Amino acid sequence: MLKTGDRIGIVGGGQLGRMLAIAAGRLGFKTIVLDPQENAPAFEFADRSFIAAYDDPKALKELADLCDVITYEFENVPVTAFDALSGSVEVHPNTTALATSQDRVTEKTFFNTLDIQTAPWFDITSPEALETALAECGGKGIIKTRRFGYDGKGQIRVNSNHHESISEAKELCAETPCILEGFIEFTREISIIAARSRSGEVKTFDIAENVHRDGILHTSTVPASITDETRSKAMKIAEKTLSELEYVGVMGIEFFVNASGDLMVNEFAPRVHNSGHWTEAACTISQFEQHVRAVAGLPLGATRRHSNCRMENLIGHDMDKVPEILQMDDTMLHLYGKAETRDGRKMGHFTQITPKSA
Ligand code: AMP
Repeated sequence: MLKTGDRIGIVGGGQLGRMLAIAAGRLGFKTIVLDPQENAPAFEFADRSFIAAYDDPKALKELADLCDVITYEFENVPVTAFDALSGSVEVHPNTTALATSQDRVTEKTFFNTLDIQTAPWFDITSPEALETALAECGGKGIIKTRRFGYDGKGQIRVNSNHHESISEAKELCAETPCILEGFIEFTREISIIAARSRSGEVKTFDIAENVHRDGILHTSTVPASITDETRSKAMKIAEKTLSELEYVGVMGIEFFVNASGDLMVNEFAPRVHNSGHWTEAACTISQFEQHVRAVAGLPLGATRRHSNCRMENLIGHDMDKVPEILQMDDTMLHLYGKAETRDGRKMGHFTQITPKSA
C-alpha cells in the first residue's frame, strides 16, 4: 500500500491525467506526469513533468525508478514499453487489459469467449472480404480500424446500397487492418464505471445513459432509463470483465441497449472514462479518486450516488456557454486549462445535479 508522499507515475497528461493528478494530490500522493506535449493539461497539477514520447524507453525507465506505481490515462501506449518495466515497478491496469483493449479483434474475442454479447463482427483481412461480410450483416455496418480508433475516428458507416461508402471503406481496409461490425439499431447507449482493488474487490458506480454527437460523447445522464434487470446485467458483466483480467484500477465499459433491454458490449477503456465525469459531482468519491485508491493499494471508496445528474462536455466553441453555465444552479464546472480552443477538442465539462429520484 502506498503511503503519504509516495509517487504515482501517470503516462499521458491530457484532461484525464490532470484529474487523476488532482485526486492523487488530495490523497497525499505525489505525481509525475509523462506526456510528449510541452504544455500538457496535467502538468499544472503534477509534482514533476517529463516531456517525452509515451514509449521513450529512457524516460519510462526514469519514471519507473522514481515512482512507486505507474498508471496511464491513455490506452494507446505501446504494450512493449510497459512490459520492459515489468519487475522494476507495478503498472496498473495490467498490460493484458491494455493489449486486449488496443485491438478490436482481441477485445471482441475476449468478450465473446466469456459469453458476453457484442455486435456481430468480421475480421476484414482484405478489401474483397468486405462485401461478403456486409451481406452477412444485412447490408448495414460500420468499418472500424482494429487499432487506434477513438471518439468515432477511424470509422466509416457502410451500406450495400451506397457504393461510395463501400469504396471508401475498401480504401481504409487496404491501408490498415479493420473489422466490420453489424449496424446495431440500439434504443440507448449506456456505460458503467467499475473499479477493482489490488485485493480483488469490485465496485461499480451507477450506470450512465450517454448521447454521442459526431462520434464524441455529448451528455451522460444518471440514472439511465433502463430496468433494474438491465442494470444488474451490466453490473455482472463489469464484475466478470474486471475479475477475468485480474484488473486493478477503474475501467469504463460502453454498451448498446435494445428495445427488450438486452445488452451488447461496444468497447471498454482500461482507464477513467469521460462518461464517468459525473461522479465528481454526484458521488462523494469520484472515478478519479477511486482509480488512485485502487492503483495505490488503498481500499475502494463507496460508490453511492447522492444526486441525479447530467454531465455535458464542452467541445471546441461550446466554451462560449461558460458565462451561462456559471449562472446555473447546482452546477459544477470543470475546465481543463487548454489555452487553444479547437473544433472537436474537449475543453471541459459541467455537471448539474438534481435531487435523487431512485
Ligand atoms: P466507438 O468509437 O466504437 O465507441 O463508436 C462511437 C459511436 O458510434 C458509438 O458510441 C455509437 O454511437 C456508434 N456506433 C459504434 N459502433 C456501432 C454499431 N455497431 N452500430 C451502431 N452504432 C455504432
